[in-house]
Amino acid sequence: MDWTFLNNSFFSKENVKISPFDRGFLFGDSVYEVIPVYEGKAFLLEDHLTRLERSLMETKIKKPISWKDFPKIIEELVKRNSYKDQQIYVQITRGVDEHRNHIPSKNLNPTCFISSAELSINPFRINPNRPGLEVKSVEDTRWSRCDIKAVTLLPNVMALREANYLNKDEVIFLKEDKVNEGAASNVFAVFSGVVMTPPVSSKILSGVTRNHVINTMKHRNISFEEQELTIEDLYKAEEVWMTSSTKELQPVSKIDDKKLKLTQPEDSIWLKVLNSFFINT
Ligand code: PLP
Repeated sequence: MDWTFLNNSFFSKENVKISPFDRGFLFGDSVYEVIPVYEGKAFLLEDHLTRLERSLMETKIKKPISWKDFPKIIEELVKRNSYKDQQIYVQITRGVDEHRNHIPSKNLNPTCFISSAELSINPFRINPNRPGLEVKSVEDTRWSRCDIKAVTLLPNVMALREANYLNKDEVIFLKEDKVNEGAASNVFAVFSGVVMTPPVSSKILSGVTRNHVINTMKHRNISFEEQELTIEDLYKAEEVWMTSSTKELQPVSKIDDKKLKLTQPEDSIWLKVLNSFFINT
C-alpha cells in the first residue's frame, strides 16, 4: 500500500481526498517541490525546502502549520513506502475557498499534500554507453516567472506530450533561439572542454541538481561558465546534458534532426560529474 500525507495526517493513497474547491484545483494556485530519496535518505533536502520556502514567499502562500516538521514527516512517509529509492512530491496550495473567486479569501489555511513514488535508477549509471536522450526544441510559451516552482505546468505538459508522440525524451524551451531549459530539467553543454549553462533568471528554474552539479564541478576543478546559449551552439557542442532531481544528469545525443558529434562517454565530462554526484554531500 502506498502512503501519502495530507495536512496533518497520513492516508493510504486510496483514501486521501481533497475538496474540488481547493484553489490548487480551481486556479493552479499552488507550488510544489520534488525531492529524491536514496536508500531511505532525502538527497539535498535543505536545498529543496529553501527553494519551496522561496516559492511560497513569492506567491504569498502561507506556510503550512506542519512546516517545521517537514523533515520528520518526509522521513516517516519514506519509511511507510517500501521503495528503496523514492521521489517525494510536496504540493502546497493556497487552500480551500468557499466560492470560486480569483481573489483569495483572507485567512485561508494552505493545503499540504505529500506523496511518494518509486525512483528508478538513472539508466546512464547502469550503462553509460546507452544512446543519449533525444530532445526536441520548442518555442517557450510559458509565463515570465519560471523561477517559481508553480504547479501550473500546462505549457510543459503540452510540449512534452507532443515530444513524446514523436518518441522524444525531453524538450528544450527556446526564446528567440536562446536556450532556456527543458520542460522538467536544466540544460548544460560543453565547448572546448568548458561546461556552460544559461544563467539563473526568471526564465528558468534554479535547479537544485543544476546547483549541485556546479558545486561538484568546482570540487573537481572542471572549467565552468554561466553563459547564454543558442540552439545552434547546442548543435555544435561536444556534450549536451539535462539535469533534474529525478534524472540526476543524463546526456543528450540528438536535438531535433541533428545527431550530436559526441565525445565518447569514457572521455566525457558528464560521466566524470555523474561519478562524483554523491561525493561531498
Ligand atoms: N526546470 C524545470 C522547468 C523543472 O521542472 C525542473 C524539475 O522538475 C528542473 C528545471 C530541474 O530542477 P531540479 O534539479 O531542482 O529538479
